[in-house]
Amino acid sequence: MNELHKKILSLSRVIRKDLFDSGWINEYSNDIFNRWGVSNLDCLVLSSLERDISFSSIGDQNFIIFDNYILELFDVLYKFYNRKIFPKKEILRFIYKLLSEKHFTRGEYLASSHYITLFSKICIPQVDENLYCKERLYCQQSFIFFHEFMHYLISIKKWKITYYPPISNVLNGLGENIPKSWSPALENKFTNNKQLLEELDCDVLGMRAAIELAKITFDTDPFISSKYILLAHNFMFIISIIDNIATLSKPKLIELDFNFIYRNVYIGIFLDSILVSLYEKNHNLLDDEKIKINNFTQNMISLIGSDIDVSVPTGYEAMNVTITKELKESLKDLLLHSQV
Ligand SMILES: [Zn+2]
Repeated sequence: MNELHKKILSLSRVIRKDLFDSGWINEYSNDIFNRWGVSNLDCLVLSSLERDISFSSIGDQNFIIFDNYILELFDVLYKFYNRKIFPKKEILRFIYKLLSEKHFTRGEYLASSHYITLFSKICIPQVDENLYCKERLYCQQSFIFFHEFMHYLISIKKWKITYYPPISNVLNGLGENIPKSWSPALENKFTNNKQLLEELDCDVLGMRAAIELAKITFDTDPFISSKYILLAHNFMFIISIIDNIATLSKPKLIELDFNFIYRNVYIGIFLDSILVSLYEKNHNLLDDEKIKINNFTQNMISLIGSDIDVSVPTGYEAMNVTITKELKESLKDLLLHSQV
């Protein structure tokens, strides 16, 4: 990776210290690019408050920018997921921190300080809980990486979008997890939604490649990597909901929810079929995990809907406060150095 390119691509981001080895992706990315005959693509791994995965280009060189901060957040969410009792207080603190970061990266410094104040008010006991697991994070990172790479293949027409059958029957079996306003008309909207179909294709390649890679690298049981992948998709959704409540209106949030449910059900079906066809695993192996993961996501979303004040006090940004360089710097310092 060219140092100048790296500098240019990092310029618009608020860079953090990367806690993970940025070389993980490089262990396989160049090999994958070669195998697909993609010569002008590179991957930049960094950690930033933007915590998004994006594409960029300089001249005719294209880049996937992978933000490892997302892995840190996955680690925290995994800790919450494993608790016997849903840790409401800690989760609220986590959400306020993320909201503060989101507003900061959007240049909304007063709103950012509003949420960092709420974050700082919640004290949580420090428990020594080291769940860090390279195998899990590596698998989740590669799932997202391959998903993005697939978007790239579609964009350069090296892959044609697949059309998937509707999933209304499967959804009917979901019981109370289906939103009440789900209808055949809505289903139709999704079946013909090209963007959504593209996402499904990217998910399929992403999960197959991640399962295979985890098997080769760590000899991970495909059932375990399937669970990690399903978690990664749910964690991404939770983070995107938190990020979006700072910027989106409610109807848009609901639409995001449908998209997520649709993809989540499909991911479950794909994982089942990968386990059966490639690894001769039992067809219903993932069922209990699916329920547990669904419940966790539902609990997170209910908490966001009921306990989080999503509206920054009215007129907050219009308050007669001058954002000095010092104020901005100290806020940035707080965000970069306080533990999620
Ligand atoms: Zn995508």
